Amino acid sequence: MNTNEMLERRARLLGVGAPLFYDEPVHIVRGEGVWLYDADGKKYLDVYNNVPNVGHSHPHVVEALCKQSKLLNVHTRYLHDFILDYVERLTSLHDDSLTTTFITCSGTEANELALRMARFITGGQGIICSNATYHGNSEAVDELGTIFSEGKSKVKRVKAIPYPESYRPISDAEGEALADAYANEVKKAIDEFKEEGIGFAGILLCPIFANEGLPNVPAGYMQKAIQHVRDAGGLYIADEVQAGFARTGSHMWGYQVSGVAPDIATMGKPMGNGHPLAGLVVGVDLANAFRKEVMYFNTFGGNPVQCAVGMAVLDVIENEKLLDNSFTVGEYVREGLRRLQNKHDLIGDVRGHGLFNGAELVKDRTSKEGASKEAAHIVNEMKERGVLLGKIGVHDNILKMRPPLPFSKVNADQLLSTLDDVMAGV
Ligand code: PMP
Repeated sequence: MNTNEMLERRARLLGVGAPLFYDEPVHIVRGEGVWLYDADGKKYLDVYNNVPNVGHSHPHVVEALCKQSKLLNVHTRYLHDFILDYVERLTSLHDDSLTTTFITCSGTEANELALRMARFITGGQGIICSNATYHGNSEAVDELGTIFSEGKSKVKRVKAIPYPESYRPISDAEGEALADAYANEVKKAIDEFKEEGIGFAGILLCPIFANEGLPNVPAGYMQKAIQHVRDAGGLYIADEVQAGFARTGSHMWGYQVSGVAPDIATMGKPMGNGHPLAGLVVGVDLANAFRKEVMYFNTFGGNPVQCAVGMAVLDVIENEKLLDNSFTVGEYVREGLRRLQNKHDLIGDVRGHGLFNGAELVKDRTSKEGASKEAAHIVNEMKERGVLLGKIGVHDNILKMRPPLPFSKVNADQLLSTLDDVMAGV
């Protein structure tokens, strides 16, 4: 079946508008490590996918999944060692305050549950989110999805605040004063919630602002913002769906990068390396207060296969030293991107953490007008040349580079030289 026939079949079976990447979509049939292969056998370097965090079809994860599937997979209301072993290991990697876990099947579900907990515990309804974010697709979580609503809040119980950044800052202030300016937006939103009688439940943020475009956050912002939240009795929910599981290189979790431990951390995508495994960690007092009043049950969340997979993912991160690799190769990628920035005026800014990097493309370095058409062209052209990347940001102009963590310096060289060639032609 050719691409057009497949597209027609997709539209008929899935409805028109089911999202796809690239002007000419790719038909992927196999993955291994950092490589993807299409139906014609063409090989692509995957510089985009964080779900297969430890590498596509990693044999240790696949083996764990198959072994446990053959033995037992049942819902989660029986005693089983695996959930206890997994949660013990997972929480040991988190801040000491986050000792209990709820396992779910998607990041959306984890965030939905975190919102529910925050509203239940505080008795308030108001949630603060950033003005260029995405946290999932359920009705309550979609209320926070501002990236598709031009940064506007959609309902009264959610307020979107400007995400903190240094490239296009909200004021002329710099350093700590800029952090104060952004943190004051949090305070303002809390006060408004109180005045409007909505009450305040908390703030839900990705600690590295991944969907916002990985901005350089003014130093001290998170401390100041979360202080306002805690002073008002609200909870801080850190969404680790993109930032977690060694992605940032320096730390296992994004909240450790910003130095503020949350009350609840939600996780997903890389947690199961492609298998639907997600969840949240929370302090035991909050967990018990919630469980006492609310019967929360998740049929698939925490089943033996999920936990075997989750454990295998953690084994690989540890055995293959993927945190170190994310740090070292991530630095190497950023150095290479900065060299390209010196050569190509189109690159206005380079930033990121570990193996999660962005190159912001601008038409002019002074006006900083976003070069979205050029970004789209580059992403499509890179794909033609066998390198898969994506783009993010409110101006749709930031090249997004977030490969599986076993990405090597040799892989980085291929990314950088292909990008150099493609940019030379723009
Ligand atoms: N949080 C963040 C930061 C995300 O980027 C996403 C998905 N892109 C989600 C939550 C939702 O996760 P899921 O698609 O597994 O529901």
